[in-house]
Amino acid sequence: MTMLISERTHPGRIAYALPPCDVPMHTLPDFAKRAAPAALPELSELDVVRHYTALSRRNFGIDNGMYPLGSCTMKYNPKLHEEIMRIPGLAHVHPEQPVRSIQGMLALLVALEHDLAQITGMDAITLQPAAGAHGEYTGLMLIRAYHEHKHEHRTHVIVPDSSHGTNPASAMLAGYEVITIPSDPNGLVNTEALRRVVGPHTAALMLTNPNTLGLFEKDIVEIADIVHSAGGMLYYDGANSNAILGIARPGDMGFDVVHLNVHKTMSTPHGGGGPGAGPVGVKEALIPFLPNPRIQYTDGQYTLYDNPQSIGKVKAYLGNIGVLIRAFAYIRSYGPQLRNVSEHAVLHANYLKTRLSPFFDVPVEGICKHEFVLSAKTIKQQTGVRALDIAKRLLDYGFHPPTMYFPTNIEECLMIEPTETESLETLDAFADALIRIVEEAHAEPDLVVRAPHTTPVKRLDEATAARKPVLHCHCGVD
Ligand SMILES: *Cc1c(COP(=O)(O)O)cnc(C)c1O
Repeated sequence: MTMLISERTHPGRIAYALPPCDVPMHTLPDFAKRAAPAALPELSELDVVRHYTALSRRNFGIDNGMYPLGSCTMKYNPKLHEEIMRIPGLAHVHPEQPVRSIQGMLALLVALEHDLAQITGMDAITLQPAAGAHGEYTGLMLIRAYHEHKHEHRTHVIVPDSSHGTNPASAMLAGYEVITIPSDPNGLVNTEALRRVVGPHTAALMLTNPNTLGLFEKDIVEIADIVHSAGGMLYYDGANSNAILGIARPGDMGFDVVHLNVHKTMSTPHGGGGPGAGPVGVKEALIPFLPNPRIQYTDGQYTLYDNPQSIGKVKAYLGNIGVLIRAFAYIRSYGPQLRNVSEHAVLHANYLKTRLSPFFDVPVEGICKHEFVLSAKTIKQQTGVRALDIAKRLLDYGFHPPTMYFPTNIEECLMIEPTETESLETLDAFADALIRIVEEAHAEPDLVVRAPHTTPVKRLDEATAARKPVLHCHCGVD
């Protein structure tokens, strides 16, 4: 049975003792004191270390195995970038310090803005948004401010049905009506359907490229033309940039706004909800509306200033600085070789797709970008084993399951993004494991349907586990 740390408590036990105080003591004023001491667990240092080490071993993370989640790049983050973020001169800067004492930090942020503008092909960047979805919301507020400035009342935002769930959600939150357009049979935007819904009420089209099937929208220039000629703006969801770094730029494709998920693409451990950063890039026409404050360099120093037309602040201070420093370290350590990231990410995805295609249904044929989808439809018909069971069985082979049942328009879908950081041996081991599982599905379906067999907890009721987690489990493992 796994005990909670609060159950391991032994009154009076402590982790370390300080010598008696030899300087005058100040007591807190009464209003600041607790009525009763906090109910903190009392344990020795070794108890604490063992407790948390045991918990960490029961977890799956990128440091102990491959994490082939599609749609959400979950790659290994070089430890060097962690080190750089922890340099005391960066880590200990306080946002309330006088601006003249944080010149180095401001220089770094301006350099990062410049690098991200180059990578995306945009004219200016705001580093403030704290995540991808927050970047979407910020970008839509910029688009709204732009249209309002021109005294145009535009009410609709168009999203393809394959878009990431955050796109329609952000558009709703920003006060827009969401129009969904269907994909064509190849999984790309249906330009005819787009033409039918675009009009004087169109505020923007939000597009993820490469899309959630791992496909580059081949008609992207035509799509841009259709929306622009109706006076709408083009929003690029750049969370899938792992496929195009140093190769293609949203700005060159005609997009007006783009957000990047630097916590996915550029070196921040994420998952479990944060931290993140979703810098937003814009074309010139939107610069006056960017969040305040902006950083400028004049007369040999960096200062902060406010734009009068700005949409205002979207995050405290200048953004999630720790995440931004890691992104800067990432970009500068690759330098001109940044495109190698995407070349390898795409090569790895195609390698796996080719190895696995004979064993699954392949809903979208041909070359993919950084991710691809397989379907277990035929396997299910023949054996009763579902995509979910295959994903669970992967845990027994030491791999995190891929994304399942997304995009929703593909039956028994498994969506795989290997990322550039995995070695050929790991890619092969992953493919071997999946192929073994397909063989097991035919020979011994029960083994797969009841998987996982080796993890601390077995099949969970996932909805209940997410809403009412039982942290205190009786599962025979201490
Ligand atoms: C992850 C993701 C988002 C949302 O980003 P968050 O940082 O999780 O808010 C948006 N679009 C796509 C395509 C994504 O993969």
